Amino acid sequence: MKTKDCALCGKPGEVMFRVQLGKGKPWVFVCKPCCEAEREKPGYRYGGTWKGARH
Ligand SMILES: [Zn+2]
Repeated sequence: MKTKDCALCGKPGEVMFRVQLGKGKPWVFVCKPCCEAEREKPGYRYGGTWKGARH
């Protein structure tokens, strides 16, 4: 099982969300709570879901 560390809170997760947190900013992976918190802010863009689990 692979994990990634959230770019905002640093917690590892098996399901991460690829997001851009402002125009011209780099794409980062964040956990679900951080994704939901950032979603309301201007400039947020969603670029896909990453899953570490293989089935
Ligand atoms: Zn997070």
